[in-house]
Amino acid sequence: MATLEIKDLHAGVKTDDGGDSFKEILKGVNLTIRSGETHAIMGPNGSGKSTLSYAIAGHPKYEVTSGEVLLDGENVLDMTVDERARAGLFLAMQYPVEVPGVSMSNFLRTAVTAVRGEAPKVRHWVKEVKEEMGKLEIAPEFAERSVNEGFSGGEKKRHEILQLALLKPKIAILDETDSGLDVDALRVVSQGVNDYKAGNDVGVMLITHYTRILRHITPDFVHVFADGRVVESGGKELAEELEENGYVKYVGTPAV
Ligand code: ADP
Ligand code: MG
Ligand code: MG
Repeated sequence: MATLEIKDLHAGVKTDDGGDSFKEILKGVNLTIRSGETHAIMGPNGSGKSTLSYAIAGHPKYEVTSGEVLLDGENVLDMTVDERARAGLFLAMQYPVEVPGVSMSNFLRTAVTAVRGEAPKVRHWVKEVKEEMGKLEIAPEFAERSVNEGFSGGEKKRHEILQLALLKPKIAILDETDSGLDVDALRVVSQGVNDYKAGNDVGVMLITHYTRILRHITPDFVHVFADGRVVESGGKELAEELEENGYVKYVGTPAV
């Protein structure tokens, strides 16, 4: 059982316009996610959804100016990025980074060793990775390819879900895991998330601006995110309403 509490979170970035300016992006986010729950965060482009995920994960570019993020009462904002991962937080990024020269199998083994606190036993590990790759329909030769280098959008997203399956977080933040996926890849990736949810006591924050993925992964709660904060919360019917009417009502202008 885990609880992630986000309380009145304010965060932004230093902008490089010569001066010392700071752009506030998150303007008081409040959200609580418990194990077993899936929360869809839906909002227009530029509303700060990725910034929210980066602030929670500890991306060095994003500075939290006030508010709290607590995982089971522990202050996440005081933890290093590694400590956050060990505490059970996982972020699948909207734009996964490429790591030339590091094979996917080495990368996964290093990440899993860091999070579990000990290296997995080789025989067990090989079997585990093979099985998860099979489920995600990732061809075996990917194990020896450089992380995300030259991967298609869909291949990168499958690889993110492979990390999820192996790292076994308590709280998983999935930032636009559906973007750029064709119908088949969306099905495979969604199935991967659903398998993980079925086998683990996890709380999921699913960031998206399309309802498409929510037909595969059923949210318990839907939150509308606009201008750096949660502006409305409801059940899954809220997603259908957004599909019909867009975000106009929340931002005043049509989302582009
Ligand atoms: P979303 O994920 O909802 O599309 P983002 O969190 O990516 O929104 O961005 C929110 C706003 O903050 C946007 O206007 C974006 O341009 C700006 N922003 C995000 N990251 C940076 C950055 N590193 N430098 C400057 N502006 C940024
Ligand atoms: Mg965006
Ligand atoms: Mg984003």
